[in-house]
Amino acid sequence: MKNYILNKPIIGKIEKTYVNDVLNKGWLSSGGSHTKIFEDKFAKFLKIKFALAVQSGTSALHVALKAIGISSGDKVIVPNYSCVSNISSVTQCNAIPIIVEVERETLGLDYELVKKAIKIHSPKALQLVHIYGFPARDTEKIISLCRKKKILILEDGSESLGASISKKMIGTFGDISIFSIRSEKMIGVGEGGMILTNNKNFFLKVKLLASRNAPFRSKKDSYWKKYFTLGEGYNYLMPHLLGAVGRAQIEKFEREILPKKIAIGKNYRMIMKNNFFSFLQKEIGENKSVYWLNCIYFKKIQFNKLVSIGEELMKNGVEVRSGFWPLNKMKNFKSIYLKNKKNISNDIFNKSLVLPSNSNLKKSDLRNIYRILIKILKKKVF
Ligand SMILES: *Cc1c(COP(=O)(O)O)cnc(C)c1O
Repeated sequence: MKNYILNKPIIGKIEKTYVNDVLNKGWLSSGGSHTKIFEDKFAKFLKIKFALAVQSGTSALHVALKAIGISSGDKVIVPNYSCVSNISSVTQCNAIPIIVEVERETLGLDYELVKKAIKIHSPKALQLVHIYGFPARDTEKIISLCRKKKILILEDGSESLGASISKKMIGTFGDISIFSIRSEKMIGVGEGGMILTNNKNFFLKVKLLASRNAPFRSKKDSYWKKYFTLGEGYNYLMPHLLGAVGRAQIEKFEREILPKKIAIGKNYRMIMKNNFFSFLQKEIGENKSVYWLNCIYFKKIQFNKLVSIGEELMKNGVEVRSGFWPLNKMKNFKSIYLKNKKNISNDIFNKSLVLPSNSNLKKSDLRNIYRILIKILKKKVF
């Protein structure tokens, strides 16, 4: 039986060459030369001035919020349909997450609800997330509203490296932005993250906090100052071995990885046309998706039926994943959920499945996955 894996990075010769180079030179910790090149190439790809490689998307979110000044009691808007790190990064700063519902077309924050949340809660910042490779539909409207109200934007492009809105790259809309680069994202190094900004003060602050809040670490500083710190800090910088993998990944991203991901997304939509389900998200206007994951949605289905379909697919070698657990369902976070009539995140969680989306899938694999899926659907549902 063939196994269709959900996602994994393409590792080739150049990853091995750079990793070997690190091992030969023997410098394993942060601040390695490959990591520096990785940061520079990432920044250049997005046309952003500053980039810092860190150990995860989660640590990137945390330290980015700290750097823009989020602290105890501040309110931060987060989308209801997203990674749990978006909410935990806020509580890590002792701030209060304001959870706002998403729209159905791209699963980005709903502009009208953001407007309402701003009116009621006067947040200091907003986390703008692009889900499964699709640029959030209301990005430009939300950005201009936030600029007007002086609300800072932390953009989370973790799932959408390479996607764009009217030719402007995802990751360039926020005052500061982050990417996760763990193995199953658009590029992957194992566990990793990247923080980007054009604001020099934010960059220096992020770098300081991620380096234990120790300000005298450069070659210019005398040795005896090295262990002085300004207060609470974190050890979040990316180690050199991972920086070497990251450098290789970003160098081949546009040429090798991105076209494959996009082809898979488009081919899925061509091959899987039926009355049982549809693809959850749409490309809107000039916005370009990178199809990080391909998520299908059943208009009418019981949750227990969906689960049994998912389990049957797993048994047949088709690795699926559920939608995100709506963040407002996580009762152990101290947060505020903006009331609304739609409750879209919950509906999506209850009725959708994410299909294998790894870059090595061929058209014949997609057809095969479809055959397996339809067979199960006929047996289980219809
Ligand atoms: C994966 C992901 C994160 C967390 O990144 P890690 O590297 O797993 O810590 C944050 N935000 C979004 C949108 C993600 O998809």
